[in-house]
Amino acid sequence: MPKRIPLIAGNWKMFKTRSEAKDLAFGLKLSCADVTGREILICPPYTAIEQVAEIVKTGPIALGAQNMHWESKGAFTGEVAPGMLVDVGVKYVIVGHSERRQYFAETNETVNKKMKAAVQFGIIPIVCIGETLNEREANRTLAVISLQVRNGMEGLSNQQAGKIVIAYEPVWAIGTGKTATAAQAEEAHAYIRKLFSEMYGADAADSVRILYGGSMKPDNVSDLMSQPDIDGGLVGGASLEVESFTKIVKYAVK
Ligand code: PEP
Repeated sequence: MPKRIPLIAGNWKMFKTRSEAKDLAFGLKLSCADVTGREILICPPYTAIEQVAEIVKTGPIALGAQNMHWESKGAFTGEVAPGMLVDVGVKYVIVGHSERRQYFAETNETVNKKMKAAVQFGIIPIVCIGETLNEREANRTLAVISLQVRNGMEGLSNQQAGKIVIAYEPVWAIGTGKTATAAQAEEAHAYIRKLFSEMYGADAADSVRILYGGSMKPDNVSDLMSQPDIDGGLVGGASLEVESFTKIVKYAVK
C-alpha cells in the first residue's frame, strides 16, 4: 500500500445542467469501475450535487463541493453551510480556489476559516494555493506559497493536518493550456511539504496529499504523477468529458 493514495479530483466549476451532470457522472462511474489504488473525486455545481450523489453513492467515485461558508447556519444569503454538504453526501470541499480568491475576494484568512470549519464537520478540505504570473516573474513564488500555507493552513492539530489535501495550482496555468513543467511543480510541492513539516511535524507532512492543478491533461499527467511529491491532480477543463477525465484517472506511472 503506498503511503499516500493518489487522488484525482474533477472541478466542474459553473458547468453542467442536471441532465448533463447525470450523463457525465454515469459515464465516469462506468469507465472508472475497474480503477483501484487511487481515489477519484468529482465536484459538480450545487444544483446537481444531490443527483450526482445518488449516482456515485455505490462507488468508486467520491463526491465533493466547490466551496462552502464557514458558519454552520445563519443569515448569509447565497451561501451553503458545511452541515448541508454533509447532509447530501459530500466528502471533500474545495477551499480557496484561485477563481474564488480573484473574483470573490477570498483571502488566506477566509480560506483558513473554511478549512477549519470543514475539518470540524468531517469534510476533507482541498485547500488551493498558487502564485500568479506576475508573482512568478518577480521571483516571489515561494514567498507567496509560504504565506498561503502559514496563514491559510494554521490552527489544526498535527493529526488533523495530515488528513487535509492541498492543491498547488499556479494561477497562470489554470485554464490556459500552459502546464507547469514537472520540475517546476515538484519544486513547489517539495517546498509546501517542507513548510507543512515545520508547522505540523514530519508525520503530517508525510501523509498530507498535495495535488497539482493547472491544465492537467491526459498527455502530461504521467510526467506530473511521476514526481515524488505530487499526489494527484485537481482537474478543471479536462474533467468535463468522460474520455479525458478517465484517461487522467488511469494515468500510467513512469
Ligand atoms: C482548476 O480549475 O482547478 C484547474 C486546474 O483548471 P484547468 O485544469 O482547466 O486548468
